Amino acid sequence: MPNLSGTGQIASEGTDLAFTDPLTGLGNLRRFFDKVDRLIVDRAEDPAPFAVGILDLDGFKPINDLFGRRAGDNILLQVAMRLKASMDHHSTVARVGADEFAFLYPMVFSEDAAHQRALMLIEILSAPYDVGDRTARLSASVGCSLFYSGEENTETLVSKAETALYHAKRSGRGKVVVYTREMEEAAKRMTRIEQALRRAVAAGEVEPHFQPIVDLKSRQVIGFEALARWTDPDLGPVSPAVFIPIAEERGIIGPLSQLLLSKATQTARNWPDELFLSFNLSPSQLVDQNTGQQILAILERTGFDPRRLEIEITETGLMSDPQSAEKIVNDLRGVGIRVALDDFGTGQSSLGRLREFHFDKLKIDRAFVSSILEDRPSEHIIRAILAMCEGLGMDVVAEGIEEEAQAARLVQFGCGGGQGYLFGRPSDADATMGYLRDAYRAMAMAD
Ligand code: C2E
Ligand code: CA
Ligand code: CA
Repeated sequence: MPNLSGTGQIASEGTDLAFTDPLTGLGNLRRFFDKVDRLIVDRAEDPAPFAVGILDLDGFKPINDLFGRRAGDNILLQVAMRLKASMDHHSTVARVGADEFAFLYPMVFSEDAAHQRALMLIEILSAPYDVGDRTARLSASVGCSLFYSGEENTETLVSKAETALYHAKRSGRGKVVVYTREMEEAAKRMTRIEQALRRAVAAGEVEPHFQPIVDLKSRQVIGFEALARWTDPDLGPVSPAVFIPIAEERGIIGPLSQLLLSKATQTARNWPDELFLSFNLSPSQLVDQNTGQQILAILERTGFDPRRLEIEITETGLMSDPQSAEKIVNDLRGVGIRVALDDFGTGQSSLGRLREFHFDKLKIDRAFVSSILEDRPSEHIIRAILAMCEGLGMDVVAEGIEEEAQAARLVQFGCGGGQGYLFGRPSDADATMGYLRDAYRAMAMAD
């Protein structure tokens, strides 16, 4: 039997190897589960809640790569010592993964208190670490959950803390998230959407709609952006802002994107030759080296000229693995596909990226366009972007133009292309054909 001290007392880390992490001497996952099991039994008669948490070091792997494995182990040891020193005599910390630690706070009774404790741990871990004559810094993310009732067991409690940790990681480094009921609801809804989407993709039920992109001065249509639309029989219409991130996260984006590109190119094939089709690629597709080949295979099959295709990517897509992204982008450009940088001016914009990558086009985010009339900074930013694009030989499209006055101002600043509700909403293949017929008839009459 392991050396188990009663709950509410210091855990002597004992000598039982099966319950001890050899590197740090802290308890391991088994010991942690064991302690939580026992506390749940203890609390059967006593309604007081308690808290568990999982702490994950942010960016530990690069540190390991940079300083070497031994230095990495040494840092983990320092982390363990700091965590252990910060526990009061009721609480326990264990090492439950390579760079993951779990803690148990029997005397923490509220979500607020758990949050405070976790913040303190992050603070303690943020001080520099000695690695030989150098120093390293680390941050950590924490997910917590609270035990409220006997219906809960150790597994569900820990899994809730893991869900909270996942949310913490997603919102950036150094964050604490305490599990809430809404998270469970959100997770359930995501799973429902995922399942419905898998079925819809297999049945070919997601459709591209097309939004016109115009030459701002002449107002003539120069191309269309394909935007995914999906209506599920039970869920109703689901926005791409909801289902595209789910598709990315759950590994459905590849097949979804192939379905959409193949439908979109079959439609665009029937448009006048001078019009381009613009198609969005997700960040995760720029990490997958098959993406380029898959796109080319679809173009071949549908007989769509690659020189009429534009791919829209965001800076997020370039960041996670720039080398892989660069290779895919170069493959595509090699066959004449043009590449546009989407949503420029939001998120992690870096001008350095514009030096490293060559883009054919830049799309100014709607956020700037919508405030161009009211706010001087937006106006200055747009003018600076336009000057930069001219210098770098890139085309520009301003997104989200809804008002005539915005379009007029953009023309005045020398912006070439525009897109937005003012010129047309995204519509299906048939309506787009109708739009083109009207547009070309008007052009013929003007001649
Ligand atoms: P995005 O690529 O920035 O697309 C532009 C979004 O702005 C579209 O939203 C479009 O309907 C909307 N929009 C266009 N003009 C206006 C306007 O004047 N005012 C306002 N308020 N909005 C306007 P949508 O269709 O909901 O798509 C949202 C996002 O979902 C897209 O943002 C894109 O990131 C993603 N997405 C859509 N379709 C696809 C797809 O086929 N593949 C991938 N990977 N992502 C897609
Ligand atoms: Ca786009
Ligand atoms: Ca955009």
